[in-house]
Amino acid sequence: MKESYATAEDTEMELNDLYDITILGGGPVGLFASFYAGLRHMKTKIIDALPELGGQLTALYPEKYIYDVAGLPKVMAKDLAKNLIGQAQHHHPTICLDERIEALRPVEFEGRHILRLAGSRGSDHYTKALLLTVGIGAFAPRTLELDGIEKFEQRFVHYFVKDRSIFQDKKILIVGGGDSAVDWALNLQDTAKKVMLIHRRDEFRAHEESVEALMDSDAEVKLWCELDEVHGNNVLEAVTVRNNRTNERETLHVDHLLLNLGFMASLGPLKNWGLEIEKGDIKVTSKMETNIECIYAAGDIVTFPGKLKLLATGFGEAAIAVNNIKTYIDPNARAFPGHSSEMKK
Ligand SMILES: Cc1cc2nc3c(=O)[nH]c(=O)nc-3n(C[C@H](O)[C@H](O)[C@H](O)COP(=O)(O)OP(=O)(O)OC[C@H]3O[C@@H](n4cnc5c(N)ncnc54)[C@H](O)[C@@H]3O)c2cc1C
Repeated sequence: MKESYATAEDTEMELNDLYDITILGGGPVGLFASFYAGLRHMKTKIIDALPELGGQLTALYPEKYIYDVAGLPKVMAKDLAKNLIGQAQHHHPTICLDERIEALRPVEFEGRHILRLAGSRGSDHYTKALLLTVGIGAFAPRTLELDGIEKFEQRFVHYFVKDRSIFQDKKILIVGGGDSAVDWALNLQDTAKKVMLIHRRDEFRAHEESVEALMDSDAEVKLWCELDEVHGNNVLEAVTVRNNRTNERETLHVDHLLLNLGFMASLGPLKNWGLEIEKGDIKVTSKMETNIECIYAAGDIVTFPGKLKLLATGFGEAAIAVNNIKTYIDPNARAFPGHSSEMKK
């Protein structure tokens, strides 16, 4: 997939390469925004820090089903990502992957205010408007500091499930008490030989329905338990878990560990751009404008009264942002794009 994309390296960045809109973050919201920008005939570029498009859908939960995307009763995250990528590519945006924006500087060009974005690959990107769809920021999973755990990482200790077939007929221990831990404990039962889950408390941060299903399932659930040790030479063989109320220790024979302990997200250099930030999120108006002229934001990264971090709301915000950017760039344009069903193919 990556080979067919233009990268920053292939592109000569000069002022005549000025884009109407640059979308920072190629997750679901950024991808839908890119499609919408194409509908509005805007010259569009997407930049993402990861080597693949799709954001959380691709990186964090590709094999989970999503049930609350309008019109799609059930869709696997990686399939939704594939469709969003296809929809975005319909208008041929320039796509730069594996690249972060380190710094941003306003530039005057032919009497208008544009932005110069300094990319981590050494190129500059020029744009009339910037749309931030960076989601939870550049994300990294929370890890556990246990002696020797690093030697099992990638092969036997996992933070994401990219390919469930590696768990085929294996014994797997899931650590965590959130939605991901509970969902994987349910979803992997038809693949793994045995699924165990430990959680350090007795309350889950997951949908009640899923927790109920978990408790009724064949998964072995141990509450008030924490991971203390990992054992094995080249291959993970067993772990020791400790009950944090009784201090009782127990050895469990497992082939794989799935650590679902949440993610640490970082806004990185964006924090220093002068954006108005509230509890880690970027404040936006009802037009998705930030406090900085020509910078808009949408999706998981934004906050406004009533904001919900969902795909459904993010897609709506993408449309609002792009159509308002259109009027920012061209004051004669209308914000309302017309109906796509009325447009020429
Ligand atoms: C396990 C799990 C299950 C979920 N299930 C559902 C569900 O059932 N229904 C639902 O509606 N929502 C669900 N969500 C939430 C949903 O995935 C998010 O709301 C959605 O992904 C937000 O999209 P986004 O494009 O705003 O951000 P993201 O998907 O986070 O994408 C942001 C992109 O920006 C990139 N980026 C970040 N920082 C930078 C930077 N500085 N420079 C360049 N690129 C950068 C990232 O690499 C990423 O590709 C779930 C989330 C998780 C973790």
